[in-house]
Amino acid sequence: MHHPLRSHHLLTNFGGNIRFRPQHFYAPTSEREVLDILDRHANAKIRVVGSLHSWSPAVVTDDTLVDMRHFRSVQLQRSADGSLWATVGGGCRIKHVLRKLRLHRVTMPSIGLITAQTIAGAISTATHGSGKHSLSHYVDELRVAAYDPATGAARVVVLSDGDERRAGRCALGCMGIILSVRFRCIPLYDVAETIVACTTLDEVLEGEGRFPLQQFYLIPHLWSYLVQRRLVPREPQRTRPVFLGLYRAWWLLGIDIGLHLVIKLLVTGLGSPGATRWFYRHILTRLVVKNATVVDRSERMLVMAHDLFQHLEIELFVPARNIRRAAQFVRSVIEVFAGTMSVSTGEILSDLAGIGMVEELRHHHGSYTHHYPITFRRVLVDDALIAMSAGTDEPWYALSFITFAQPHDRFLVLATFLARAMARLFQARLHWGKVFPLDGAEIEGSYPRLATFRTICRQFDPKGVFRNTFTDRVLFGSE
Ligand SMILES: Cc1cc2nc3c(=O)[nH]c(=O)nc-3n(C[C@H](O)[C@H](O)[C@H](O)COP(=O)(O)OP(=O)(O)OC[C@H]3O[C@@H](n4cnc5c(N)ncnc54)[C@H](O)[C@@H]3O)c2cc1C
Repeated sequence: MHHPLRSHHLLTNFGGNIRFRPQHFYAPTSEREVLDILDRHANAKIRVVGSLHSWSPAVVTDDTLVDMRHFRSVQLQRSADGSLWATVGGGCRIKHVLRKLRLHRVTMPSIGLITAQTIAGAISTATHGSGKHSLSHYVDELRVAAYDPATGAARVVVLSDGDERRAGRCALGCMGIILSVRFRCIPLYDVAETIVACTTLDEVLEGEGRFPLQQFYLIPHLWSYLVQRRLVPREPQRTRPVFLGLYRAWWLLGIDIGLHLVIKLLVTGLGSPGATRWFYRHILTRLVVKNATVVDRSERMLVMAHDLFQHLEIELFVPARNIRRAAQFVRSVIEVFAGTMSVSTGEILSDLAGIGMVEELRHHHGSYTHHYPITFRRVLVDDALIAMSAGTDEPWYALSFITFAQPHDRFLVLATFLARAMARLFQARLHWGKVFPLDGAEIEGSYPRLATFRTICRQFDPKGVFRNTFTDRVLFGSE
């Protein structure tokens, strides 16, 4: 029998907003050990931890925690049509997967902004980038340790098609412990990026056909856009090494480090909302190198050192048909919170009147100055049951809001207001791994396949061992 490694060990997530102390902590090294742990705690509660990069309490337990760090193998198989398939241990970090794949001149079909997450943790909350599906969508097969509904004993199940696979692709740990995932690799590719400034959203969206991987930022208090226009060049090409080196250095020192230090200084050092607004209105866009095209490997172009500074994030997914209204709404709400606009006229008034939230917004007038660009990423429709971009026939835009302010209270008021209002007005969904201020009743209607997801979870976990307070609140609340 495998015994817990450590007990009463305090764990803290990347954002510092989640702390918990599991009673039992295991780091198994084989499938047999995982099954033993499941049998041993079959009447208790079990969660799995990845790299703790979620801001939501998806991972929290005061009972049994399983760390899959020893499941980090990457195995490659060539199929009859010549394509390479990777089978990756659930606890393997994405950066490690990418390194291994690169040796075979292939890569992952989709990645997010950072690569520190584990593969199982990333798919469990439908981690995504821009212009593609989320990682979950590309998972072809999962090996999962769960319970046999007939005997109650732990067993290994392979999910390779149908609704079971759709459920397992994004399940927040509620279907059992993911031992490994399998996906088709794609050949290494380059990305060409040009940063441009646009004054309107129409101008930004107009470029989408030519730059399918683009992502863009709404600059608060200036209310114009910076766009990272991205495409895969038809012919392999390279930017001259000297320029590429300078560009990379500028990005790391100027953006990843410099810009974030300035924002932290403005927010936590000076604490001056006026200075923050002035910085965004007059300085930020001047610091950015625009209209120069840079070409490099996708893994370098699509990733940022976004994990250098601790921060908190909420991300709202809006169906493409609502993106223009949603962007206008976000601007108005942030302006009212900043005290630079009142709620007396216009679309915001009629939108909020329709959902009875006018007085609430008035109450927040002048209470919080948002201090980070709002990132927009387009996510294609996922073939999964409860991924944020699943179940529609149109893509989604993920709008992310970040804060460096401490304490987080005022940001959380803004985040909660946006989440509640945008869920009602624009059918917005929240990223499962980020700040999550909604309850089951508020999200139930927006996931048409939720009932099927719950039924499948019960088949894998009849006693609800893999559920925690958070998943009960947001996924199983009405049961
Ligand atoms: C700086 C930063 C940048 C980010 N950038 C992006 C981005 O670009 N795009 C995006 O979509 N998200 C992004 N995220 C969010 C992040 O990708 C997700 O929260 C992801 O789930 C974190 O993976 P993890 O390995 O840290 O898992 P954890 O946070 O540890 O766990 C997440 C969930 O996965 C479950 N889980 C973990 N391992 C297993 C397993 N083996 N079996 C079953 N369940 C398991 C856990 O129980 C939990 O429910 C970012 C987060 C940070 C901190």
